[in-house]
Amino acid sequence: MDFGHSAVEQTFADEVRAFLRAHPPDTFPPDGTDAGYGSGAHSRPFTAALGERGWLSLTWPREHGGQERPMGFQLVLLEELAMAGAPFGPLAGCLQVAESIIRHGSATASTRSRGLSMLMVDNRLPGLELRPIRSLTGQVYHYEVFMDAVRVPREWVLGKPGEGFGQLLHGLDTDRFWGRFYKAPFLRRILGLLVEYVRAEKPDDAVARHRLAHAAIEIAALRALFHRAAWLIEQGLPATGPVSAAKVMADELGQRVLSLGMELLGPYGVLRAGSRWARLRGEIEHQYQTSWGHALAGGTSEIQRTTIAVRALGLPAEPRGRG
Ligand SMILES: Cc1cc2nc3c(=O)[nH]c(=O)nc-3n(C[C@H](O)[C@H](O)[C@H](O)COP(=O)(O)OP(=O)(O)OC[C@H]3O[C@@H](n4cnc5c(N)ncnc54)[C@H](O)[C@@H]3O)c2cc1C
Repeated sequence: MDFGHSAVEQTFADEVRAFLRAHPPDTFPPDGTDAGYGSGAHSRPFTAALGERGWLSLTWPREHGGQERPMGFQLVLLEELAMAGAPFGPLAGCLQVAESIIRHGSATASTRSRGLSMLMVDNRLPGLELRPIRSLTGQVYHYEVFMDAVRVPREWVLGKPGEGFGQLLHGLDTDRFWGRFYKAPFLRRILGLLVEYVRAEKPDDAVARHRLAHAAIEIAALRALFHRAAWLIEQGLPATGPVSAAKVMADELGQRVLSLGMELLGPYGVLRAGSRWARLRGEIEHQYQTSWGHALAGGTSEIQRTTIAVRALGLPAEPRGRG
């Protein structure tokens, strides 16, 4: 399998790099903080700039305003943005929600169904409350959503009434995929920072060199896992097991690479951005703190392992406790 870019993908990658050179990511004002997944901060102006180039709708059908390009272009875009440390926070969510709407469409809930239905809920509806959750980093980028007697118009059913659960399961696969695909290029960027640090501060540290080399091997393997999962998704083949495997590896490798960073920085590692003694702009401290929640978010690593055991290895489902 060739993991390199095709000629047209390479041309597109060059186009994205030229855009990033002409519009340095740190010149766009952020309006939300980096949650450490590798997508940088949330920046509406940056997302709007991507949208102006048609890069939010690369793969959408033309009738929905898209360019009908193959999924590979989306992967190229995410990899280039993650390697540049660009603030593309909302992009994975955009891709995922757009994919669900295009795939399932909307339907008026005209019939009663005994199944579950999926609804799109506008978070400005009366009765809906967003409560902030402060993370280990001291910042807020997650919220609890409370709904108290919220009335949702029936036209906002997503897909077919009664088929919401199947749609949800498909959505979980794509959530895990799009939410983690860019973790390999993100970790490659972090590894680059650590390599520069070791080169400058401890070039003769043989253990550090070996550990950095080992991280490079694991990151390359992670990228390969995601590209294989991408191929399965694009072919319409079952991808649940491979996507769960890639997610577990992404999140646990993220913890290992950031823990290595903390060790290499030693006492400097715990200093936050803004401290005059912080190294690498305090980025390792921030990414280390956020890396722990990633193995919970989007389905915990334990649940992913159960999914792999059942869906990929064919083991029986977990026995239910007697109740
Ligand atoms: C950083 C972060 C971001 C998040 N973002 C979102 C979001 O955007 N939207 C959203 O809806 N939710 C979000 N969540 C919530 C997340 O989906 C849940 O935390 C996660 O699904 C785990 O559920 P729980 O917290 O109820 O843990 P529990 O289900 O109570 O699990 C507690 C522990 O028990 C283990 N466990 C539970 N059941 C089993 C089992 N059957 N076998 C083995 N071990 C088991 C779990 O692995 C875990 O370690 C986020 C969480 C985090 C940490």
